[in-house]
Amino acid sequence: MPKLQLHTKIIIGLILGAIFGAIFAVNPNKLEFRFNDNSQQVENWQEFTFLKKDSVLKSFGKEDQLAIIKYFKNLKDKKDIRQKIKLSDGSEKIFENTVTIEKIKTIGVWFKFIGDIFVRLLNMIAVPLVLASLIVGAASLTDLRHVAKIGGKTLGFYALTAVLAISIGLTFANLIQPGHIMDADAKDRLLDTYQEDAKTKIDQNVSMNIVEFIVNIVPKNPFKAIADGDFLQIVFFAILTGIFLMQIPKEKSAPVINFFSGVSEAMIVLVEKIMLIAPYAVFTLIAATVAEFGFSILQTLLWYSLTVVLGLLVLTFIEYPILLKIFTKIKLKDFLRAQRQVLAVAFSTSSSAATLPVTMDVCEKRLGVPNKIASFVLPLGTTVNMDGTALYQAVATMFIAQVFGFDLNLTQQLTIVLTAALAAVGTAPVPGVGLLMLIIVLKSVGVPEEGIALIIGVDRFLDMCRTVPNVLADSLACVVIASSEGELGEINPDAKYEGAM
Ligand code: ASP
Repeated sequence: MPKLQLHTKIIIGLILGAIFGAIFAVNPNKLEFRFNDNSQQVENWQEFTFLKKDSVLKSFGKEDQLAIIKYFKNLKDKKDIRQKIKLSDGSEKIFENTVTIEKIKTIGVWFKFIGDIFVRLLNMIAVPLVLASLIVGAASLTDLRHVAKIGGKTLGFYALTAVLAISIGLTFANLIQPGHIMDADAKDRLLDTYQEDAKTKIDQNVSMNIVEFIVNIVPKNPFKAIADGDFLQIVFFAILTGIFLMQIPKEKSAPVINFFSGVSEAMIVLVEKIMLIAPYAVFTLIAATVAEFGFSILQTLLWYSLTVVLGLLVLTFIEYPILLKIFTKIKLKDFLRAQRQVLAVAFSTSSSAATLPVTMDVCEKRLGVPNKIASFVLPLGTTVNMDGTALYQAVATMFIAQVFGFDLNLTQQLTIVLTAALAAVGTAPVPGVGLLMLIIVLKSVGVPEEGIALIIGVDRFLDMCRTVPNVLADSLACVVIASSEGELGEINPDAKYEGAM
């Protein structure tokens, strides 16, 4: 039997993970009650009521598993609280002194720890890899003007793709109008279930100040930047270190450059080894997400989710190919083939930062981008370039506005273009932050921030989807910049990972 290539194994892991997760999905009609010394399970309730002494606090129906769990968790004072549960056979149960109410975990989520280890390994590598390879890369850049030129082109390209992405999102939100398709009942239920989660996010008081953002690129302490994994600060420090290493006598700079060159190469080999467990890790991550995901919420938010996904598909398969064609000579087929691992890792981890080591490896080995460009453009893009997130924030703002009956005019939609571009820049490349930064966009056009409660339920799934163009755009920028500098090397979309079996 022919040996399967790594990317084929990863795709198989992804598909099998989804099937496994669906088979062993968490039962939405079952709950586990833990008390101080024992626990009990309840299945198929018809009515679920929380009582304080004998007065009714709140009642739930049979499809409210998540709302019940969240309500109990968020109850400030759990003293004298009882649960009266009417089962489908008409019998009744009363619980008191309940410590927790939870879903019952299935085998679908048991192995998620393997995926978690994989994500941590990739995150572990990202910082030393960026630091070391950029110091080495910058040492080969002739002067600061050269860096400024590449930097200017990169930021210009990122701004262009962000504005295009947001425009695509706004176009679909205006055409489909997902918020007008949603019924009032579903709206109330979502607001009720997720209001506490939304409040926690709103209380974080996120804001985006562009001057502060620029000032913060300069690290006060590069070691803190490294410890915090702040890529922009690391990039700033590494470029200056690399460039000024070239201004000192060679006998002093050579050992330092050799040292970082060794670190960088070792990290790359490590990425390739870590990727060997990717098929299994992807399997466990997808299985756990599918098993835990409430598909009923996807139904409720079907039109909103479809609008976001449609926009992301147009971004990935129409906008990017057009830009690739305009700015480079690379064939779309080759570009996408080279990115197979990158896309699967981005989708299953929902983290551009975790995907960065894989993206760097692929851009250098398969797409022929020189290290000095990849090690600069990619970490920068990972932090500031999030087209998928920007598109999603635009659609989400329009959706929430439509549900709440706001009609956003052209000026307000232009405000969305600006603020979503900035909010995406401020979004950290880790799971879920795009939703938090959405608050800034909502505030800018006066749409109620509490509205994020409407979309929290499907955010995990949409996060997976938006992270894919987030990383793909970084690779695209890499080849565009390299090609504009006349430095794009040979393309080998099928170059195997050294360790690949
Ligand atoms: N998960 C996204 C990323 O890492 C960020 C977000 O939109 O939440 O690129």
